[in-house]
Amino acid sequence: MLKKVLIANRGEIALRILRACKELNIQTVAVHSKIDADLKHVKLADQAICIGPDSPTQSYLNIPAIISAMEVSGADAVHPGYGFLAENENFAEQVEKSGFTFIGPSAKNIAMMGNKVTAINAMKKSGVPTVPGSNGSLDEDETKIKQIAKEIGYPIIIKAAAGGGGRGMKVVFEEPELINSVKITKTEAENSFGDSTVYMEKFLQNPRHVEVQVISDGEGNAVHLGDRDCSLQRRHQKVIEEAPAANIPEESRQKILQSCVDACIDMGYRGAGTFEFLFEEGEFYFIEMNTRVQVEHPVSEMVTGVDIIKEQLKIASGENLSLRQSDISIDGHSIECRINAEDPINFLPSPGKINAYHPPGGPGVRIDTHVYSGYTVPPNYDSLIAKLIVHDESREAALIRMKNALDEMVIGGIKTNLELHEKLISDINFSEAPVSIHYLEEKLRK
Ligand code: ADP
Repeated sequence: MLKKVLIANRGEIALRILRACKELNIQTVAVHSKIDADLKHVKLADQAICIGPDSPTQSYLNIPAIISAMEVSGADAVHPGYGFLAENENFAEQVEKSGFTFIGPSAKNIAMMGNKVTAINAMKKSGVPTVPGSNGSLDEDETKIKQIAKEIGYPIIIKAAAGGGGRGMKVVFEEPELINSVKITKTEAENSFGDSTVYMEKFLQNPRHVEVQVISDGEGNAVHLGDRDCSLQRRHQKVIEEAPAANIPEESRQKILQSCVDACIDMGYRGAGTFEFLFEEGEFYFIEMNTRVQVEHPVSEMVTGVDIIKEQLKIASGENLSLRQSDISIDGHSIECRINAEDPINFLPSPGKINAYHPPGGPGVRIDTHVYSGYTVPPNYDSLIAKLIVHDESREAALIRMKNALDEMVIGGIKTNLELHEKLISDINFSEAPVSIHYLEEKLRK
């Protein structure tokens, strides 16, 4: 087993990793920016090192500072969490070259999945269904581009191969807009990601977002932990997630789950990962793979009883996966609400001091958070301050449990989106049927 893990992240996920390490008797090193000295995991870690000023580029994204902290502290591995350096193949490579363990997949696999064109090609090889598209990057030939679009059928979407965070995409409804849209997306892609490669795929108009959680050891063993529905999104940011995804025909579900496991084995994938799909009219379409633990991993943990972070740590220690698919069953239903420090009207971040904090409790209620009464939410980072997760025997029961938990929860001193969650959990369309990825934004416009 690993002896000492450096946690290269902050907030709730850093605390979540720390807890898993402690349960496995692994020592912990917290690295933090100046303003983050009061974070809970910093106080609880065996060692804490300030790696730089508040700006993420000078601290949580500062690769030399993090590697120096590993050397100084005697850590043998680094857990990147999500965001920051979690999907940076250069970081993974430098960590390994310096003789440490990167808790995640190989740099090669991160790079392959980080580029959407190579990711889609890998999926096709393993039998994972993808969106009908250009089968690779678009070249300069305008006639050819028009021909591809015609074959796919409008509307289509132009996407940057190196894109991320919902940027570098443009929807095209008719041929006269096509060439100009390709040019604009190329320029944006070059400016934002330093890579002007773009490709084209069919634009699905009313899909759900359904994703598959996998764990794989890179030694030929892989399992899935079922699926999640994360369709409630605002500006491509997930707001509420749940497991399992409701109303999916069992046969298609089993088929897609198995194809993800096959893809992991085919690419020698090591660690936890998520295959993201759009689901429309009974069909799944792969859009991307995230090569890290995700914010919404707890809902899969709640319905399977598997601790995903501990599995990551065990795999990084060189252990073969001890889980078998036959050991995993889906029990009941779990829902997660992402609680953000933000203005409920204009959604702008609302940093500041929390002067009252009363978390909910009771059976089947879990809260993953780094905040406490007296904690000041800094303005420098993501506004996620807590994840409220419930588990119950059915979706219906989980919705009631979440409603009660939200009613109990008090966060004073800053603005939060608690009220939005209360509205969404009681929303008749959300509670009765699955909704599409556009539902939340349409509701907010009303
Ligand atoms: P990113 O890496 O930027 O998150 P994704 O490929 O995951 O990019 O796409 C982000 C979002 O854009 C999706 O969740 C979906 O809302 C929308 N999107 C992407 N591709 C399509 C498509 N082919 N049809 C419809 N919507 C799409």
